[in-house]
Amino acid sequence: MWGREDSIDPINETYIFGHDWESLSQMSKGAIFAEGLHSGHMVHGKGWKNALDEWFLKLKMRGSKPRIGRMQILARLGDSPETYVREKLHAAAMPPACCPNCQCSRRLQALGYYERGITSSGTPHYLRFQVRRFRCMSCRRTTSVLPDFSQPYRLIANHIIGSYFRGRSTSGSQQWSFLLNRYWNRFSDWLPLLAPKVRKDFRLRIPDDVPDRAWACLESGLGEIGIVTRELTIRSRITLFGAYLCHQPGRSKNEIIGIHTTVLLRVGKDPPD
Ligand SMILES: [Zn+2]
Repeated sequence: MWGREDSIDPINETYIFGHDWESLSQMSKGAIFAEGLHSGHMVHGKGWKNALDEWFLKLKMRGSKPRIGRMQILARLGDSPETYVREKLHAAAMPPACCPNCQCSRRLQALGYYERGITSSGTPHYLRFQVRRFRCMSCRRTTSVLPDFSQPYRLIANHIIGSYFRGRSTSGSQQWSFLLNRYWNRFSDWLPLLAPKVRKDFRLRIPDDVPDRAWACLESGLGEIGIVTRELTIRSRITLFGAYLCHQPGRSKNEIIGIHTTVLLRVGKDPPD
């Protein structure tokens, strides 16, 4: 859940997001509404706190109804966020040959773009960039084409995450050290489930209890972080940080929450909300 104070509009508002709140909360209000990325929204008028309580109650009572979600693929589109924005490479994103959900070929139609944020080299600010989307005319699920310098649902650019994971150093990225440390902990927590998938799908001898060695093994076996992430989403349908609905054809949200809950309970953490 995330609340924002809109600088143009003096009305305070609260948006309700799921596990991908960190990335979604960096998006513009227009993109959130256009994409329907929020689970709920309330303006802080009279009685909004009661409305918020009702939301908590609804979330507790929510059943297992599956929802048609978005699919996501990663593609090589420029070597940095700065190049991508400067050269407007979002417009060059092509639809995948087949729908990643139903595998139907030549049925994806351009749907427009959504906007998200990413860290920019050498500045404490983040850049906003456009992500192209397509809709499958067969199954109706949308597919977004995320440039592979970015990480699904993470604000920090891949090259910064990669160098932090390699050396655990925050030089040049001190303003992001809090988030980077969280990413590392998340990778470490997820490793007991990630490692068996990597051993099976890529035949790499990756340990499931030594994160530093596991990371070195992934980089030497598959390549830099953008390639590792792209390969993981294609072959294993996971990322370095978890399993997300947007990489699972035909899976319901509850199955994904089940995966997270199992591994996080195994390592003694609270299950995700
Ligand atoms: Zn489809």
